[in-house]
Amino acid sequence: MYIAFDRAECFSDEELAEILERHSEEEDMRLFHRADEARRHYYGDDVYIRGLIEFTNVCRNNCFYCGIRSGNAKIKRYRLEREEILACCQEGYGLGFRTFVLQGGEDPYFSDKRICNIVSAIRECFPDCAVTLSVGEKERESYEAYFEAGARRYLLRHETASEAHYKKLHPAGMRLDNRKRCLYDLKEIGYQVGSGFMVGSPFQTTQNLIADVRFLQELMPDMIGIGPYISHADTPFRGYKNGTLSQTLRLIAILRLLFPYALIPATTALGTIHPQGRELGLKAGANVVMPNLSPAGVRKLYNLYENKICTGEEAAQCRAGLERRVEEAGYRVVTARGDVKYDAQGGKVIAQKV
Ligand code: SAH
Repeated sequence: MYIAFDRAECFSDEELAEILERHSEEEDMRLFHRADEARRHYYGDDVYIRGLIEFTNVCRNNCFYCGIRSGNAKIKRYRLEREEILACCQEGYGLGFRTFVLQGGEDPYFSDKRICNIVSAIRECFPDCAVTLSVGEKERESYEAYFEAGARRYLLRHETASEAHYKKLHPAGMRLDNRKRCLYDLKEIGYQVGSGFMVGSPFQTTQNLIADVRFLQELMPDMIGIGPYISHADTPFRGYKNGTLSQTLRLIAILRLLFPYALIPATTALGTIHPQGRELGLKAGANVVMPNLSPAGVRKLYNLYENKICTGEEAAQCRAGLERRVEEAGYRVVTARGDVKYDAQGGKVIAQKV
């Protein structure tokens, strides 16, 4: 498939602010429609599925927004052993998944050796599947080792691209520049990289969101995951307002128009704040869904935020439910690995300043 650069759009800061602060419902509809057209131009009605395996809720970090933060003493901690993870993949494989996303807190138990061991076991058992890791900030050498073991994709949201805002969301010691360093290391090593941010996180301003978009334009990730911030009672941010559906949808559409090539998930968080959140996300430009493959017994324990959906379902139920939702929204689930699409010159399709 040939992809032309001319389809990508540009937005000035003023245009972004206009959309995020002053758009009418009618203008939103037009924006979502434009994003859907761009998505169909590059990806047709394909929706890729990724099997999400939340393999540990132990985390050494203490991010103020996150339910599995180390300071949350109320939560029961769990880890999945290698065999349990492989069993999730086995079940997922039978359900048509060809990408497994291993996500977890930054759990010291999962040393580089253990992670490599798990990645290579999955690659051996399921050679036609891609392994995506999402295990936080590591040294470059660790990322190299995971790559060597067979991981080819990595998800690490930058969370917010503004230094001042980053400090308000994280304790001292966590640094935006380290997170960015990780993202650039991952890219250089050759991973397909996913980044992204929360929408409506405490203290976030329109200018912060514009900075997030600009940072992504600099990084040029392959995947962009965004979702609304959702409050959690056992965090210092209890009582702060959740991000909104409309703001998240507007940003999905903007990102689709700026990055026509990108893999953009309609996230679980979006499905949590609105019953049709994920369908609306797809209609605004998203083209990936990530059903949960974690064993039912531990799902409720990976509670990053409150009222997370699908925590009571079996993997198969989750998969079937999503397929129905995707079809009702006017798209179809494809079981291909779904790698990012490049243009004829091997470049990504990005917004070109003219
Ligand atoms: N430890 C890994 C995985 C983090 S969990 C890492 O650091 O990348 C995955 C994502 O969930 C986070 O990147 C964050 O954007 C999101 N998240 C965490 N708490 C949240 C909350 N309260 N509301 C919405 N999203 C949240």
